[in-house]
Amino acid sequence: MECSLVVVVVDVNPVWWGLQNGANDKGLTLFECMDHVLAFINSHVMMNQNNKVAVIASHTNESRFLYPGREADVKADDGGREVRDGKYEHFANINDTVQEEIRKLIVETGQKINSRLLVIKAADDNASQYMNLMNVIFTAQKQSIPVDACILEKDSGLLQQACDITNGVYLQIPQINGLLQYLLWVFLPDPSLRETLVLPPSIHVDYRAACFCHRTLIDIGYVCSVCLSIFCTYSPICSTCHTAFKLKTAPVLRAKKKKKTSLPAT
Ligand SMILES: [Zn+2]
Ligand SMILES: [Zn+2]
Repeated sequence: MECSLVVVVVDVNPVWWGLQNGANDKGLTLFECMDHVLAFINSHVMMNQNNKVAVIASHTNESRFLYPGREADVKADDGGREVRDGKYEHFANINDTVQEEIRKLIVETGQKINSRLLVIKAADDNASQYMNLMNVIFTAQKQSIPVDACILEKDSGLLQQACDITNGVYLQIPQINGLLQYLLWVFLPDPSLRETLVLPPSIHVDYRAACFCHRTLIDIGYVCSVCLSIFCTYSPICSTCHTAFKLKTAPVLRAKKKKKTSLPAT
């Protein structure tokens, strides 16, 4: 039994969406965008009853699972609604959870999940998240999880690299109010079917790295040997991990230590 999991990461940066709100008549509000995303998700779930979905909102200072919701909240809601024959509620929760998880475990044994990640990106790249993103990209590559990116406005160098490395699809949509059309056309079909489709041509990926100090693309730079941050100029202290580097000086000559000689046992 195969199922396909799509994890949709939606950029809900309030500054960017705030600008969209008042910008023009061809824009899209965040709630309209979510309507498009929900229609896409429904289509994915409709394709196969075993298909699964997760939605994560990426905010400026936190990421939150929109679906599935937080387990604790769900349980609390259930407890409030159901009448339980005077059973101690905590016991009931434990019993239900154990039974439910056992059932899932049995049903899902041998189930193969093909996962993929879809990022719907609005605001500009944030250089402070470079390391996290690189870790995600290489993990996804190792687990054969394609990272797809649907870009609402400016191109993202980081996501171009992510999609290229993981065999995902990168698309900067020409019209934001047609978001759903692009989601259904490009991102809904399973990655295994992509070879048979005529998808937008792949873009040229700029593999130059951006320096962490000015976020500009550089050909040659300085790399911190501890955290791999990249800088365009030499600095004695890494601004990311605060490691201090010693400047290269002439080697200090020391007298050679006397070699220990083993004395013959007497
Ligand atoms: Zn710089
Ligand atoms: Zn460093």
